[in-house]
Amino acid sequence: MSIFNDTKIAFADKSTKQLEKAKWMFKMIQHPHLTSLGIKALNFTVHNNFPFVQDIVKHTLFEQFVGGETREKSMEVVKKMFKHHIGSIFDYAIEGKEEEETFDHTCEEIKQNIKFAEGNPAIPFVVFKPTGFGRFNLYAEVQAGKELTSSEKEEWNRIVKRYEDVCKMAHERNVIIMIDAEETWIQTAVDNLVNEMKAQFNKEKAIVWNTIQMYRTGRLEYLAEDLKRANEKNYFLGYKFVRGAYMEKERARAEEMGYQDPIQPTKQATDDNFNAAIDFVMNNLDKVSAFFGTHNEKSTELVMDRMKAMNLPHDDDRIHFGQLYGMSDNITYYLGDKNYNACKYLPYGPVKDVVPYLTRRAQENTSVAGQTGRELGLIEKELRRRKGV
Ligand SMILES: Cc1cc2nc3c(=O)[nH]c(=O)nc-3n(C[C@H](O)[C@H](O)[C@H](O)COP(=O)(O)OP(=O)(O)OC[C@H]3O[C@@H](n4cnc5c(N)ncnc54)[C@H](O)[C@@H]3O)c2cc1C
Repeated sequence: MSIFNDTKIAFADKSTKQLEKAKWMFKMIQHPHLTSLGIKALNFTVHNNFPFVQDIVKHTLFEQFVGGETREKSMEVVKKMFKHHIGSIFDYAIEGKEEEETFDHTCEEIKQNIKFAEGNPAIPFVVFKPTGFGRFNLYAEVQAGKELTSSEKEEWNRIVKRYEDVCKMAHERNVIIMIDAEETWIQTAVDNLVNEMKAQFNKEKAIVWNTIQMYRTGRLEYLAEDLKRANEKNYFLGYKFVRGAYMEKERARAEEMGYQDPIQPTKQATDDNFNAAIDFVMNNLDKVSAFFGTHNEKSTELVMDRMKAMNLPHDDDRIHFGQLYGMSDNITYYLGDKNYNACKYLPYGPVKDVVPYLTRRAQENTSVAGQTGRELGLIEKELRRRKGV
């Protein structure tokens, strides 16, 4: 039996009313047809300013998966979780707007998050998404080695400057900054940029952390190269390890364009690769720190086992675990209860602007086999426990 089955611990922060609502919601999004219809209606109505729809969203999906409309309004959730030794990682969840003004605004928001996190153990990391700081196609063109026009060069320099500004500020304030990973055809451009930041700001400790998607082939080789670079240039490494979120899109593009699929051939191969990354971390702890971003119970247990075998304290500051807010509370709250470094990605933003994030969560919970079933099973178990049946 799984060690993550204690629903009293998992849902310590949720009222019975909230659990009833979550149960209803997960039941709805279990139906793919209903979800895709709902998403279409949602995108249309929210963007055409139907206030009552925003209200419905706010009291359902938003309440389940988002901390609040602003950083300040999310503080209630942050404080609640921190009482259970769970940190929050503010995730500015506005996606898909590709304008310079929006990129500047996002950069400002991240700087505010750094100030907010400084010296605050309830907020152990600050995170940003590469496409929050620049246009997707420009990253792709840089990666493909395309000759940029002079205005594109200026645009790229503005992206580089945003990275430099936030990493410099994070370094000055001793706050760890983590960069999310995205599609492979922009990720090399991102990796190169992040590597420059690492060389600049990770001399005393790992301040700038990159994300490594273990569903990709060749990532273990990449880690070995990265370690070699870090040893040569004398800086520390920090990684967020995930399996990866864009599998279908990656496979479809590779097939369409006729290049080798960059994703592991099977789920088992991805799992093995993720486990190999755990080994890589444990074998290089003098240089490497890690954040395991996963809802997978086996991977989480494996990290815990490896820590035990190495006599590491549960709260060793080189090892962290993270799940998304609204999902897998059974893992996060268990880890927090046992004094591991547990965190939640806590998205925030105006209801209208976080709809793309919410629709991804709804789709993911429809498509990821077992995830919704697992969430529902745990919620129902806890509701039965509270009713004494
Ligand atoms: C805190 C946190 C931060 C995250 N940040 C990022 C990020 O920056 N970038 C990003 O891309 N994702 C990110 N993710 C999402 C992550 O990559 C996974 O998509 C998601 O967590 C599901 O994987 P899992 O390890 O939780 O669980 P599992 O359910 O064990 O694994 C599901 C994953 O396995 C892989 N998989 C499934 N089927 C196959 C198959 N047939 N062949 C090969 N592989 C397969 C896919 O990656 C799939 O998402 C993040 C997740 C968390 C919890």
